[in-house]
Amino acid sequence: MSATRTIGLAVDAEEHATILPELQRAAAASGRDLVVDPDATPEDVDYLVYNIDSGLTEFSAYTKLRAILNTWAGVEAVVGRITFPDGVPFCRMVEPGMTQGMSEYFVAHTMRYMIDIDRAVTQSADGVWQKWTPPLARQTPVGILGLGELGAATGAKLTALGFPVHGWSRSLKSLDGIICHAGDSGLAEVLSKSKILILILPLTPGTREIINAARLALLPRGACLINAGRGPLIDDTALLDALVSGRLRHATLDVFREEPLPPSHPFWGHPQITITPHIAAETRMDTAADAILEQIGRDLDGAALQHIVDPVRGY
Ligand code: NAP
Repeated sequence: MSATRTIGLAVDAEEHATILPELQRAAAASGRDLVVDPDATPEDVDYLVYNIDSGLTEFSAYTKLRAILNTWAGVEAVVGRITFPDGVPFCRMVEPGMTQGMSEYFVAHTMRYMIDIDRAVTQSADGVWQKWTPPLARQTPVGILGLGELGAATGAKLTALGFPVHGWSRSLKSLDGIICHAGDSGLAEVLSKSKILILILPLTPGTREIINAARLALLPRGACLINAGRGPLIDDTALLDALVSGRLRHATLDVFREEPLPPSHPFWGHPQITITPHIAAETRMDTAADAILEQIGRDLDGAALQHIVDPVRGY
């Protein structure tokens, strides 16, 4: 007879309230001998559902832990701040709700830029009847920096719509319909092609301020940029300069160095910047709980866990 395994919970209060019933539902539905116990003492916890806003940064009391399952995709706040317990995998969140949300966010803003919906909104407000011919998707090359779970799903949706898509990642990928690049020359190539540039990289020492003045200068004149990766991927001053010079027509930013974005920040009210308040892709608690149970199921079946964070790589 197999022993009951305990799923513990160390997340912030808001997430605690929303994920707990979903974990209980998913654990019951799994048909496995599992209990979700948010009050379990650390030494009884086998799997810890976690985010760093719980305040927990030290795991030595969790003596039989088999995995830490993060509820967020981004892990830059964790890497370097916690010591990953020896031999215990720390997994970032990958779940279909978040992936769908992110790819829909990028598709929406890409279409908006291609058709120039903002122009229609302005002309409507000003009572102006002036025609233009929006380009077709096939005439609008899109670059995606970051071809992981979220970037690859976005690329798949955009190629299905007919956009030529160039993607860039650390290791060279082979993805249906996407022209894949890696390395410095690959980055320059992607930038030079991108009428619309999508940023969906993790924040690491290798990606901080990857979009600086020199890289922005490689974009076609009048390009648009959409960042839902992390704020510090971009040099903010270089971005503002590129909007003034016309190198960039417009930017949509979901993530910022400081969140909430301080009221005095020059991005607020900027006519060429759209701000969304870090909502591009929330963790959806129902599908996230299913993804967590799938990970636990893999472990119980003796299969390797997925999406394990490498603290040296930084993501
Ligand atoms: P992922 O699956 O780990 O993919 C990361 C991608 O970035 C991979 O293709 C990776 O290359 C590439 N990469 C990493 N470092 C690089 C470097 N130095 N040079 C070139 N490419 C590099 O991550 P994900 O699940 O797609 O998530 C990406 C990020 O999105 C998260 O880290 C988080 O910051 C952000 N995010 C934002 C929101 C939001 O609401 N705004 C929501 C969720 C996530 P390899 O393929 O070679 O490893």
